[in-house]
Amino acid sequence: MKNKQSKGILSLIVVVAMMFAVVFGVKVVGSNTTASAGSSVLANVADGTYTGQTKGFGGDIIAEVTIEGGAITDVKVTGDSETEGLGGVAVEKIPGRVLEAQSLNVDTVSGATVSSTAIMDALRMAFESAGVNPDDLVGVTNEGPKEKTEETLDCDVVIVGAGGAGMAAAITAKQEGKNVIIVEKMPYVGGNTTKASGGMNAAGTKEQKAAAEAAEDEEVKEAILDSTVENYIKDTIAGGHDINDPELVRTMAEQSSAAVDWLESIGAPLPTLAPTGGTVHYYLHEPEDGSAVGEFLVKSFSQTLEDLGIEVMLETAATEIINQDGKAAGIKAESPDKIYTINAKSVILATGGFGANFDLMASYDPSLANAVTTNTPAATGDGIFMAEEMGADTVDMEYIQLHPTVFQENGLLVSERLRSNGAILVNKEGKRFTNDLATRDAVSQAELKQPDAFAYIVYDSKYAEEKLYQKYVSNGLTVEADSIEGLADAMGFDATAKENFVKAVESWNKACKGEQEDEFGRNNGLVTLDEGPFFAIKIAPGIHHTMGGLKINTNTEVLDKDGKVIPGLFAAGEVTGGVHGGNRIGGNAVADIVVYGRIAGKNASDFASK
Ligand code: ADP
Repeated sequence: MKNKQSKGILSLIVVVAMMFAVVFGVKVVGSNTTASAGSSVLANVADGTYTGQTKGFGGDIIAEVTIEGGAITDVKVTGDSETEGLGGVAVEKIPGRVLEAQSLNVDTVSGATVSSTAIMDALRMAFESAGVNPDDLVGVTNEGPKEKTEETLDCDVVIVGAGGAGMAAAITAKQEGKNVIIVEKMPYVGGNTTKASGGMNAAGTKEQKAAAEAAEDEEVKEAILDSTVENYIKDTIAGGHDINDPELVRTMAEQSSAAVDWLESIGAPLPTLAPTGGTVHYYLHEPEDGSAVGEFLVKSFSQTLEDLGIEVMLETAATEIINQDGKAAGIKAESPDKIYTINAKSVILATGGFGANFDLMASYDPSLANAVTTNTPAATGDGIFMAEEMGADTVDMEYIQLHPTVFQENGLLVSERLRSNGAILVNKEGKRFTNDLATRDAVSQAELKQPDAFAYIVYDSKYAEEKLYQKYVSNGLTVEADSIEGLADAMGFDATAKENFVKAVESWNKACKGEQEDEFGRNNGLVTLDEGPFFAIKIAPGIHHTMGGLKINTNTEVLDKDGKVIPGLFAAGEVTGGVHGGNRIGGNAVADIVVYGRIAGKNASDFASK
C-alpha cells in the first residue's frame, strides 16, 4: 500500500466523520425556533401536526412534523423495529437535525441507509401533507460552517474503534485499573460486530460439557465430546487452507473457554451449542434466547462500559498514531467540532477490516469492485494505514472472504445458523448443487457457478419463532408458503424447476432420516424440511470478512517489517491478519475479537504500567 493512498483514505474518513452533525434528541418538543431558512417555504402552512408513513428496515416508520407560525417546532419519528444501534441511531438523530436545520437538507446516518431513506421519505410525505413541496426544503439550511477547536487529553490506554475487539479491550484495560479512552468514528458503537449473526466458537468449555451430558442423540454427544481444543485448532487451520499463523490459532483456541467464562462474568452468557459451518464439531456458542450473537454482545459490552464509567467518544475518527521515537504514544483524532491530541502510554488499534474499502479490495481482486458488502461503511482499513505509517507489516491482505448467503438488495447477511439448523440451498432450477455447509469460500464459489449466480436458502418452521428468524420475515427478505409446492410457486419456479425442487427436498429428508447418504456429502445440520409453513430467501455471495491485516504476535503487539515489536502499539480483531489464514470459519470472528481484545487490553495495560 502506498502512503499516498492511505493519506487519501484518511482524509476521506475525516470528511465522513465531519458529515455527522451535532447530536439532538428524538423528541424535541416546543423548541423556541426563531426566524429560519425554512420559514419562507413554510410561511403559509396552517399550524398543525402533519404525518407521513413508510416502511423501514424492520417495520413501519412514522414521521410527525409540527409546524407553527411558519416554522418547524417539533419533529418526531417512531420506528421501533429498526435495528438497534444502526437504524435506531437514524430514528434518534434525524428528527433533531431537521428541527435544527429547519429543512430537509440534513445528514442521514451512514451505515443505516435503508432506515435513513425510509425516515427521509416519511418526513417528505409529512411535509407534502402540509401542502409543501419537500424539494423546496432541501436547498435550505440553518447551519453555518463550524470552527474546530483543539483539545488535548491524557490517558493510560487509548483504544481506536468501539467494535467487539475495542470494547472487549477497553473493558479489560479498565478492569486492570487503567485510565482508558475509546474513540469511535461512527455515531454508534458495534461496527461489524453488531452484524455477527451466528455464535462464538470455543472449545473445552463447561457449556460443551453440559450439552454433551444432556444430548440424547449419541452422534451429537460424540461430536460435542470430539469438539476439543486440538480439533478446534485443526478445523480452523484446515478452513484457513493451512496458511494461518499456527501460534495465533493455538492461543485463540486455548483461551476461548476462559473468554466464554469472562463473557458470562460481564452478563453475556453463551450457553447454547450448535455445529460450526465447515466442520462437524460443536464449537459454536450462542445466546440462550436465539438472538444473533453480535447484537447481543454489543449490547452487553456497551452496558459494561457504561457501568465502568467509560464513555465512548462517538463521531471521533483517529487519523494518526503519535510516533515518539518509534514508540506509539497516543493518537490524533477529529470529531465534527474538535481536533484532539490524545496522549497515551499505549495504543490499541481495533478498527476492524477493510470490507467497505472497494479501492483497496479491488487492488487485490478487481472482481470485487462492484460486489455487495455486508460491512459497515466504517470498515475502510484505517488502522492498517495508520500503523503502516509507523512501519507496521501486514499479512494475508489478498484473502477476502465472500459469505455465501447475502441478501443482495441491502447486504444483509443470512446467518450460517440456518443451514446448521437444516436449511438447504437450491438454484433457480430447483436443484441443490453443493454441500451447503462446506466452508464459506467453497459454497460461495459453487453459487457463482449456478445459472445467474444466485441461489435460494430454504427452511421450514422448526425455528421460526427464534428472534433471528423473525427478523428475516419482518425485514421483508422471505417468501413463504404452506407447502413445498406452494413455495416453488412463490419463488417463481417454472414446472420443471418445481419438480426438481420437490425431489430435492424429498431426497434431503431421506438423508436426514438416515435412509440414504446425502448426495453432496453433507454430514451436519441434517434436519428434515417437513414442517410448514416453508420459507425461502434469495441470496448470493457478498463481501464479508477481510482475513488479512496487521501482523501481530500472540501478545497482540504489532510487528514491523523486520518482525520487531513496535513499542506501545497493539492491535486486535479484524484489523489484524494471520488468525484466519485464507478463509475464516463461521464463529471465529467473535472468538478472535473476544480472545484477542482481552489480550490487547491486558498487555496494553501492562505496557502502560512500565
Ligand atoms: P472488530 O470485529 O475487529 O471489533 P468491528 O468492525 O466490529 O471490528 O469494529 C471496528 C470499529 O472501529 C467500528 O465501530 C468502526 O466504526 C471503528 N473505526 C474504524 N476506523 C476508525 C477510526 N479511524 N477511528 C475510530 N474508530 C474507527
